[in-house]
Amino acid sequence: MKYLLVLGVVLFGIWLWRHNRETAARERAADQRRAARTPPARQVPPPPAQMIACAHCGLHLPEADAVTGREGSYCTHGHRRARED
Ligand SMILES: [Zn+2]
Repeated sequence: MKYLLVLGVVLFGIWLWRHNRETAARERAADQRRAARTPPARQVPPPPAQMIACAHCGLHLPEADAVTGREGSYCTHGHRRARED
């Protein structure tokens, strides 16, 4: 009778080990399917640069590249001087 109990415990341990292994493999496979189905994140393009016109010649240029003067923005320091000096 004692050996039957030991055999039962051993068999239960083997069943538990195999059950956990199969469950983990199933979850891994589901994760891989989910990852394959998820599209890669789209890259968001940078916002367009704000364009302004030179107060002297009318050339359009990005606001970040403009030279700021008293009477507006210019494409170059030369045009700022030509207009304001
Ligand atoms: Zn200009």
